[in-house]
This record gives sequence, structure tokens and C-alpha cells, in this order.
Amino acid sequence: MSREAMERRQFGHRARLVLTREESARIDAQAHAARAMWNQLHDLWSMTPKCQRSLTRMDEVLRQARRDIDWYAVLPAQAAQAVLKTYVQAWRNCWEGRADEPSFKARFRTPMAVDIPQGRDLNIVRVHRRWGMVQLPKVGRVRFRWTKDLPVGKRADAENRITGARLVKDVLGWHIAFRIQATEAVPAPHTGPEVGIDAGITVPLALSDGNHQHHGQWLTEKEQAKLLRLEQRAARRKAHRKPGEHTSCRLANTYDQAARLRARAKRRHQDWQHQTTTAIAEQYGTVVVEQLQIANMVTSARGTIEQPGTNVAQKSGLNRAIHAEAWGRTVTMLTYKCARYGGILAKVPAPGTSQRCSACGFTTPGSRESQALFVCRNTGCGWSGNADHNAARNILHLYRTGHALVPAAGRAVVRRAHRVKPPTAR
Ligand SMILES: [Zn+2]
Repeated sequence: MSREAMERRQFGHRARLVLTREESARIDAQAHAARAMWNQLHDLWSMTPKCQRSLTRMDEVLRQARRDIDWYAVLPAQAAQAVLKTYVQAWRNCWEGRADEPSFKARFRTPMAVDIPQGRDLNIVRVHRRWGMVQLPKVGRVRFRWTKDLPVGKRADAENRITGARLVKDVLGWHIAFRIQATEAVPAPHTGPEVGIDAGITVPLALSDGNHQHHGQWLTEKEQAKLLRLEQRAARRKAHRKPGEHTSCRLANTYDQAARLRARAKRRHQDWQHQTTTAIAEQYGTVVVEQLQIANMVTSARGTIEQPGTNVAQKSGLNRAIHAEAWGRTVTMLTYKCARYGGILAKVPAPGTSQRCSACGFTTPGSRESQALFVCRNTGCGWSGNADHNAARNILHLYRTGHALVPAAGRAVVRRAHRVKPPTAR
């Protein structure tokens, strides 16, 4: 019997941590120290003449700062090294055109995070069907929700293991994101049917075979009413704030409550996206989507002062809907899920797919009745149906007639114009 082909896969898994108030405060302090260290590195880098910039020198300064400044000591040495490594990598990303220059990290705008670069420090144990324990440096052993079988203990080996983690904070509290390396058998090619998918206006996802993927509201009516009340209360309190005055505890509290509700909606949405994309990747062998430039669609509606856009309100409503459905996230999920099930994800150019008739192939002016209904005005055709379904059929047709966009070889590189000449590390 021939050995199955194996491939190495790297992915992340995020779990919620259960922390006492003291533990949470300790990780907060670590995150602030990490951010301050980044800012100090950034200052040092900017002030040092180009010819003197080096990793060794930066490392020396970091070590000295950790000896001199008390509150830097709360940050574990490995995490401090990770800040330096990330900073240098940020410049490398900038020089190679993948990102903008690294910049100062402000206290309230930066997501809080702490790196745990080495997996062996974590010492993960499953203690219950639903709970695991993990060792956090300078914090201690804490519990986390066990929702996925992690390669730990006897299940871990050189090929399947946790290589590191990162602590990240959002409105729902601190989470741990594990970096997992796994070696799995290459899946057999998926022989399922082909399908075109359109990010719809009236339905979240319209499939070319007539299936529609629906979902309800992310918040119940009670929750929506509460969110509205909180937003109104925040606006009122903000209006009463004098210029230059600090945000009051009451206002900050209201902001937090609203943010928690929005986070709950987002979590429910992501859950639905995961379930739906998994079902699609399992069922279909080839999934075709349109290449949408969401960023362009959003910026173009309002236009510029010289050339103001038309139908701004109408388009921005549409943009909101596109954003709300988070189409980009759906495509990302489909990309890796199709690959895992042995399927293919293809992209076709977007223009015209919603105006063209999928029965006769002609674009006749006035064919689209409304956002929801498509009626072909071509004499002798007269096909009518759901507008999103029509677009999904067009998308599949484009793929079948060889219009699929060929993905660029290797990693996609987004070139951005540099504002200043990039410095050189030497
Ligand atoms: Zn037609």
C-alpha cells in the first residue's frame, strides 16, 4: 500500500480565558509594557542615524531599559524579545511593500496583546471535557474553554504541536490564540458539483443552484432596543461634556456596554459564517465567487469635493449592507475550507454579473426591476427570478466559459506608495 501524501498546515485557534481580576490586571500591565516598549523602540529607531541601526544595539538598549525601568519588568523576557522581533519584521514588511511604516501605538486605539513565542512554556493540560489549563508567564496557571482537540501531551510530536501563542484582548476580555502546526494527509480531489455564489443584497448568500443561505437578526429585539438606548445615552452624555474634559466613568461604562452588545452580534455572525462555509465546502467541489473590491466600492460612493458622487445615500446604504455581511471574511473562510476538503475556490471578474440576464446572456437596459427581482426586458426571453440568484448563475457561467482569474503565484503582494524613502537596516 502506498503511503498517503502528507502536507504541513499552520493555523490558529482562539479560546476564551477565565481570569480573576488580579490576573486580568497583570496581563493588562504586560500589554501596556509591551506597547510602551514598541514606542520606545520606534523612538530609538527614528533618532538613531541610519548607519548605526542594528538589531544587536536595539537589543542592548532593551535589556538596559528592562533593568532601569521597574514596570518593564512585569513583561516576561520572551515577550520583550518578541516585541523587538515584531518591530524589525514590521520594517521588513514595509520595505518589501506589504505594509505601511510601523508607527507609534496610542494607548486607547491599539488592540492590547502579549506574545508567548514558545509553545513549550505553555504546559497545556486538559482537565475536563470543557476546560483546559495553560501556564501564562508571570501570571500563573489559568483555565480556558476547550472547544477543539489541541495537539498536547501524548498527541503532540515534532509534526503536530503548538508552536506558540498570543494573548489578545477584546471587549469580551482576554483570549488566547494558539499557533498550531499540524501534518495531515492531502485530501482527495473533491468530486462534488460546481456552484456560483453571490454576496446578495436580499439574501446573505445566493447559490447558483437556487439555494439561499438565510440568517435571522444577530440581536434579539430586546437587545436591539437596549443597544439603541445605550447609543442615545452615550450621545447625550457626550453632548454635555465640556471641551477638554475627561470621559466620565459613566460615559465610559455606557460605551463598554454598547461595545459588548456589538461584539455579541459579531460573534453570532461569525458562528453562522463558519457553519455555512463549512457546509458549502463539504457539499461542492468547485466554488466560484466574484472578485469584489469592497474598499473601492466604499470610498467611491461619496466621491471627492471636486467630483461629488451621485446617489450617495442609496449607495452608502448598500455599502453598509455589504460590510454587514462581511463578504471578505466569508471568502477567506471558503478559501481555506475548500482547500481542506480538496475542493477549488475560483474567482471571476465582477462587472455586469448583476445586470446581465443569466438565461439569454444579454444585458438589456431596465432589466432589473428592484433590488430583489430581476425581469429580463430582452424581447423573446422575459426570464424573471431573484436578482441575487441571477447574479450567482452568471458567476458560475463566467467560470465555465473560462473567465476565472488566475491567482498570482506565491503570496499576494500589495504595493503601496511610500510617503518617505524607506530607511535601510545596516
Ligand atoms: Zn434574458
